[in-house]
Amino acid sequence: SFRALVTEKADDGRISSSVQQVDEARLPDGNVTIDVQWAGLNYKDGLCLTGAGGLVRTYPHVAGIDFSGMVRESIDPRYAPGQAVVLTGWRVGEAQWGGYAERARVSADWLVPLPDGLTARQAMIAGTAGLTAMLAIDRLEAAGLRPDAGEVLVTGAAGGVGSIATSILARLGYQVAALSGRPELSGALRLLGASSVIDRSAFLGGADKPLESARWAAAIDNVGGTILGKLLRQVNYGGAVASIGNAGGIELETNVLPFILRGVTLIGIDSVMQPYATRVAAWNRLGELFDFAGYEELVEEIGLEELPGAAQRILAGKVNGRVLVRVG
Ligand code: NAP
Repeated sequence: SFRALVTEKADDGRISSSVQQVDEARLPDGNVTIDVQWAGLNYKDGLCLTGAGGLVRTYPHVAGIDFSGMVRESIDPRYAPGQAVVLTGWRVGEAQWGGYAERARVSADWLVPLPDGLTARQAMIAGTAGLTAMLAIDRLEAAGLRPDAGEVLVTGAAGGVGSIATSILARLGYQVAALSGRPELSGALRLLGASSVIDRSAFLGGADKPLESARWAAAIDNVGGTILGKLLRQVNYGGAVASIGNAGGIELETNVLPFILRGVTLIGIDSVMQPYATRVAAWNRLGELFDFAGYEELVEEIGLEELPGAAQRILAGKVNGRVLVRVG
């Protein structure tokens, strides 16, 4: 048997999680079994651990949408025992059992070999957040973004995706404006490479006009809602915006003027169903570009027992950077 954080639903509908010994026979179907070493905590994990959002349909459940570890058994020719692997997405931790357990069983199609030069711990410092930030930067560059184009706005900047996006953009030579609701974290954001920090309420204050003064070459948005609506009206001629998240709401209130008068592009980013080749390329580029040592100050390491509390904190927007879960 192995240790797992098991999430259960009581008769009264209450969701709770506790660390339990789970029998091997309860692992789901799959052709690769992994000894999990590290897992991440993402906004979506907060939803799965608290039952918010209805993402988990079947209980008892093991959450954890990303993990890294070592192959224990494999009946798929692509993977062999002892091989280091990373998993993000494919609804693992939502529809399937995930990474908050010493053992996981998944389809080989969902795995990526650990990129050269990365440790399993580093892979989960980045995790889904890092992969998604990298995918967004790749897409913005494919849309023509270059460092001399001007400032790039990153929203939800003190969260996982936002802080890693800020760090990588700065590393690539971009000027980054970090938008955050937590002014107390502006020092940390500047250390990551933000050239300016914008207060969320100041950004939302002021008159709303159908088109506002153009100030951003591009944007990476983790928040959605009114913030995405507002920033779209401030993007420079020909600029692009990558929409990643909905931490501030799923609504998008906008008008067509940014698109038809400034040629602005809105790019949707999904990390969950990305094809294998795109994942491998993004992981490799992330491994080369991301300053893991410089990011360490924004890493909080916890054990499985501490996850329920951390889940509440991430949903309340109170986690800085990345929470790393020590599993194996
Ligand atoms: P996170 O660490 O919780 O970061 C989210 C950040 O958004 C918070 O740190 C906070 O930043 C800001 N925020 C939170 N609540 C807010 C509110 N009510 N209004 C405005 N801003 C708010 O989460 P994450 O893991 O980085 O994920 C960020 C978002 O991207 C989530 O919505 C997540 O579901 C989504 N996501 C999508 C994909 C994809 O494939 N598309 C992949 C990963 C994540 P400040 O304190 O700095 O304001």
